[in-house]
Amino acid sequence: MGRAFVYVVLGGGVAAGYAALEFARRGGYSRGELCIISEEAVAPYERPALSKGYLLPEDPSRLPKFHTCVGANDELLTTKWYKEQGIELVLGTRVISADVRRKTLLTATGETISYKTLIIATGARALKLEEFGISGSDAANICYLRNLEDADKLVNAMSSCSGGNAVVIGGGYIGMECAAALVTNKIKVTMVFPEKHCMGRLFTEKIAEYYESYYTLKGVTFTKGTVLTSFEKDSTGKVTSVILKDGNHLPADMVVVGIGIRANTSLFEGQLLMEKGGIKVNGQMQTSDSSVYAVGDVAAFPIKLFDGDIRRLEHVDSARRTARHAVAAILEPSKSRDVDYLPFFYSRVFTLSWQFYGDNVGEVIHYGDFTSNSPRFGAYWVSKGQITGAFLEGGDRDDYEALSVVVWRKTKVSDMSELERQGLAFAIQE
Ligand code: FAD
Repeated sequence: MGRAFVYVVLGGGVAAGYAALEFARRGGYSRGELCIISEEAVAPYERPALSKGYLLPEDPSRLPKFHTCVGANDELLTTKWYKEQGIELVLGTRVISADVRRKTLLTATGETISYKTLIIATGARALKLEEFGISGSDAANICYLRNLEDADKLVNAMSSCSGGNAVVIGGGYIGMECAAALVTNKIKVTMVFPEKHCMGRLFTEKIAEYYESYYTLKGVTFTKGTVLTSFEKDSTGKVTSVILKDGNHLPADMVVVGIGIRANTSLFEGQLLMEKGGIKVNGQMQTSDSSVYAVGDVAAFPIKLFDGDIRRLEHVDSARRTARHAVAAILEPSKSRDVDYLPFFYSRVFTLSWQFYGDNVGEVIHYGDFTSNSPRFGAYWVSKGQITGAFLEGGDRDDYEALSVVVWRKTKVSDMSELERQGLAFAIQE
């Protein structure tokens, strides 16, 4: 049993949706030549919605509202759209092996799908507690959040937990966004993580302090510097409390685990070059096999701005951009330049909203109002006399645009105290 396509996109997440739109806009394929294979049962959607609109207690966002590419204020690609464009959606289908030399993929149902050009967009999966030697992830009230199924489980757990206690394991953006959603759903939250402060990979202590105080006012308790070791369960297998390494027992009606992700590379290990936990690609998003491209969370690609340093970014904007870049490189190789990407991350919680551009390396200075409930504050990172990164909470479009420009241009800084004094104005007047 088998089917043959010219172009196959493996994975049906954010990157796949933006790749599809780029194919359709460029029109470089005929009906039936392009397919997207996805383990998920639905057409590509904007994954960030799962920890934001999807978890709201009132008028929550539901599909088809957040299919790609609405997150970039672009067309809403429903199943009907794919049909109209002649793009085959092979949904609910897991690929269990890949043979790069033969250019074939084998699905869990035993079908062989062959391609001339493959775009790997398999994204990443949530790390499970079992990988840290802790069992019990399958309990009905332990939730992860990577896909729609996880989000539905979380919504169900929340609906039977109103007024109860949730423990959030992990202080990264999944933990922070889920904690905010739980509180909004009137659930008491304790966040547990081993680091000194939340968002340890990005936030400075001062920035983290603001969000932690804000969360505390919203009723969140922080238990830092320790980790979960095991659970107590009732006779039905439901978790009733979380046991921590420091000896504490936290009562729990539900648990949300956000302890990081791992790129889905396993199908290609030993066949393609890997780097930074992902599939290594060049500036065209092309892997070590010239017929295979990789995009989104799974791709480790050179960042020109960082002197060609290879990075694997786990953020939605990078998934969108790299997907579109790969399609352009595939369809018009002679016109395609190497990807030139400015790393950009964002998050929204409660009424807060921040954006970050660049790299958080070097010396850091802070500016703005860290005390208000509707704050506007930020930070610059400066290395070798140049801006390398910029963070801003509570900015408007023009503010963020200005920050992206100073990072993009590696704007020179001769006087750190003057930069601190000027704050956002430094970027705006540049
Ligand atoms: P994904 O969107 O994960 O898609 C991968 C797809 O591949 C999935 O459909 C998966 O089922 C499929 N797949 C994998 N293996 C196989 C296989 N063997 N066979 C078939 N199909 C397979 N980023 C931000 O910048 N800001 C945010 O606020 C933000 N919020 C987020 C909130 C949540 C809850 C999550 C989970 C992520 C968030 N992100 C955010 C990150 C962002 O969503 C990811 O960077 C983005 O989804 C990556 O796109 P992708 O296409 O590479 O991977």
